[in-house]
Amino acid sequence: MTRTLITETISKIGEIVLIKGWVNTRRDHGKIVFIDVRDRTGLLQVVLSPELAGNLHSEDVVYVTGEIQARPEKLINPKLATGTVEMSCEKVELIAKAAELPFDMGKENLDLELPTLLDHRSLTMRHPKIQAIFKVQAVIIDAFRKALQAKDFLEFQAPCITPAVAEGGAEVFKVKYFEHEAYLSQSPQLYKSLLVGDFERVFSVNKVFRAEPSVTTRHLTEVVSLDAEFGFIESWEEVQDMEEYVVRFIFAEVANKCQRELKMFNATLPKLSDKIPVIKLRDAQEIIFKRTGRDIRQEKDLDPEGEREICKWSLEQHDSDLVFISHFLTKKKPFYVFPDPADPTYAYSVDLIGRGVEWSSGGQRLNNYEQILENAKEWGVKAEDIEMYLQSFRYGVPPLGGFALGAERMTMHILGLKNIRESTMFPRDMERIDVSLRKNNTAITG
Ligand code: ATP
Ligand code: MG
Repeated sequence: MTRTLITETISKIGEIVLIKGWVNTRRDHGKIVFIDVRDRTGLLQVVLSPELAGNLHSEDVVYVTGEIQARPEKLINPKLATGTVEMSCEKVELIAKAAELPFDMGKENLDLELPTLLDHRSLTMRHPKIQAIFKVQAVIIDAFRKALQAKDFLEFQAPCITPAVAEGGAEVFKVKYFEHEAYLSQSPQLYKSLLVGDFERVFSVNKVFRAEPSVTTRHLTEVVSLDAEFGFIESWEEVQDMEEYVVRFIFAEVANKCQRELKMFNATLPKLSDKIPVIKLRDAQEIIFKRTGRDIRQEKDLDPEGEREICKWSLEQHDSDLVFISHFLTKKKPFYVFPDPADPTYAYSVDLIGRGVEWSSGGQRLNNYEQILENAKEWGVKAEDIEMYLQSFRYGVPPLGGFALGAERMTMHILGLKNIRESTMFPRDMERIDVSLRKNNTAITG
């Protein structure tokens, strides 16, 4: 008999079918036993005798044959997609026996401490609610691709091994590369920019690596970066408009494809008005000062508290959960940043803040070769370290700009998760590679 997928059973009333999956839960009621069988499409209640049920327990892999029957009205389970039917079991084959589980996986919410959840990642990802996170993430990443493909961007694979640290910052992993030193890429920035000289419009879905020296709820050491860069722009606002289009496209796809998953988390997509508000860093700091009395007006960036406050302001004043912050200090940005000619202290750079946290950074970049060389020198970046990048600009690159969105942060804030590790299948931080690197598993803070 060929396999029937679990969600297909609702249209097979009266038929004998074969389903394949895992025992999700088992409930013994004297002369009958209920097991919920799970496959990639959902759950189905199977009714069987204690003899047939044997010692089946959660996560056993089973092939089950039986008749699909309509449930009596009062036994319909509205929470299950297959809640109108059940299977009356005739035969069970045990295909792979599971060991005793370390905790109960059968509840609607998997209430585990984060370190336990992550230490048992391959197991906990079997839980429907945990699976929902990664279904949403897959839609986000797919939508990013679709949005840019629709605008004629070419996808490229950025290198992870780089010859030098060009962007500055100490948050970099050094790797031994035969008899040389190399680094794990912090960003595909230089590659996506140089590729504008080749393909005009490019994007990548790539891992980037940050040796984040602290454990926070929003930082990982290995991140999925959604990067885009394009040429022949007329202004930095064009970059921001492209990013807004991409973000709206992503939200529309999630709304379209993930209603069930959003509901599981009681989540609603971030509110957007007609246009995402844009505010200069210095004005944002002034607003924060006026609203809270907290003076961060001389700072180079918004701190986490400032990001939360400006989002509150944006929601109150503009009915928007997202807000763009522009015009960061030129000297605090990498060497390729494009200074505002009206006041070169500030740059054509723009971050997107959503629900209190930075989601992306972007802006216009320098394209004039001489100016890039000059800036690199001023920023202490050696020309020989960025040879490949410079080569492109030596031979002509149009005015350009782009942005990078963090996939995990987007997932986290769309679903309202508390910790970025929840939106990462295999999170890495200074205390974890797969499992905890600490002997005593302490709770993740920050
Ligand atoms: P933050 O200031 O919040 O640490 P950043 O300014 O260092 O972030 P960028 O270099 O601007 O980050 O990277 C672009 C985007 O990539 C960020 O807006 C964020 O969404 C994501 N990102 C960067 N670093 C991390 C990280 N360590 N963990 C998770 N996401 C990150
Ligand atoms: Mg940033």
